[in-house]
This record gives sequence, C-alpha cells and structure tokens, in this order.
Amino acid sequence: MKLILLGAPGAGKGTVAKLLTKMDGSVQISTGDILRGAVAAGTELGKQAEAAMKAGDLVSDDLIMGIMKDRLREDDCKSGYLLDGFPRTIPQAEALKALLADMGEELDFVVNIDVPRDVILDRLTTRRTCTDCGAIYNVKSNPPKEEGKCDSCGGPVVQRDDETEEAIGNRLDVYNEKTAPLANFYEGEGMLLTVSATSSDAVIDAITEKLGK
Ligand code: AMP
Repeated sequence: MKLILLGAPGAGKGTVAKLLTKMDGSVQISTGDILRGAVAAGTELGKQAEAAMKAGDLVSDDLIMGIMKDRLREDDCKSGYLLDGFPRTIPQAEALKALLADMGEELDFVVNIDVPRDVILDRLTTRRTCTDCGAIYNVKSNPPKEEGKCDSCGGPVVQRDDETEEAIGNRLDVYNEKTAPLANFYEGEGMLLTVSATSSDAVIDAITEKLGK
C-alpha cells in the first residue's frame, strides 16, 4: 500500500504506520525519524535541522524534499510505503505530487487521523521514545518494563527535546497553521479518508476497509 498519514503530532501516525508495515511489507517513512537520526549522527543535514526541530518549528521545504526525492527511489519502497509526518505543508504536497507523477506512481489515499486536542496534549507530555530504535512508550499507559530502557532493543527511553510543554504548544500551533490545510488539499484531490478515532485499531480497521482487504 502507498498511503500518507496525516494528523497532529501525537495523533498516532507512527503507531498506525508500524502496525500497517506488518500487514504487507510496506515501509514506514518518517521524516521526523530521518531528521532525528541525522541530528544524532551530527551530519550536515542534522546541523541544518536541529534548531528548528528543538523549537518545534518546521525545517525548510527544500531540505525535506531533498531527503524525500532520494528516499522514495530506494529499493524498499517498491513494496509500498507509509508516509508519516510528510508532507507537512502545501508546497511539500505539491512537490510530492510532481515527484510521484515523474516516477509514474500513485498513492492509494491519504488518511487524516483526527484526535481531540486534550487527548493529544496528554499523549505528548507522557510520551517517551527509544533513541536507538524509535519505539514509543507512554509513562502512564505503556511504560517500558525497566524504567528508561527499551523493551525491544535495550536503548535509552527518553522524553524528546521537542516534547517539553513549550515546544509541544508551538508544534500544535504550527500544525494548525501549516499542516491542517492539507486535509482540504487532499479532499480536493478526492483522496482523503478522515478517521476520528483515538484507538489505533479503529484507524487500521477504517484503512483496511477502504483498501478492500
Ligand atoms: P515528527 O517526529 O514527525 O513530529 O517530526 C519532528 C520534527 O521534525 C518536527 O517538529 C519538524 O521540526 C521536523 N519535521 C519532520 N517532518 C517534517 C516535514 N515534513 N517538514 C518540515 N519539518 C519536518
């Protein structure tokens, strides 16, 4: 399958993407994970992205398109992909449309995961992430078995730099201003499936039904 997962930070895009990859071998492509990897490795890309990420702002469209133009041409994308956190602005959506047309590819559809703001805020302030493998935990509902240590890879489980209350507020404002308009964009393209659900199982059910699986 080839899907875009839209939704505010904390809406569950990453969790849903991870579950979908198990269904048919599609790969999850998270621009946030790619950027965090670059920051951790201290690459030129990481240096260019770090300050904006820490503040909860978006990195530039050019930087993101530079990453995605290469990433979507990699071999593992042939079995399908789930775009998680990309596109995030109208210019990115337009550039992706042109890129896919150039590659002769079509997306199945775009899933907009719609979750109330109070649920999002609660999830983001209690979310913890493994810095090695990206596994996601929650201090209240799904803590790692051993505090601060990832159940699957043993890596450190920490609160992300951009998940302080200040940065979260900014990320949600940026989302409303720059990313929420993408729902209208894809509605206009006849590609939008909006799912109002706080459980990832309900989102998966809606997606599989639409895919006709
Ligand atoms: P995420 O893990 O998707 O919440 O992304 C973390 C941070 O990476 C965001 O707050 C942005 O600073 C940056 N980022 C990730 N994806 C994009 C994108 N498509 N466009 C611009 N910035 C992005």
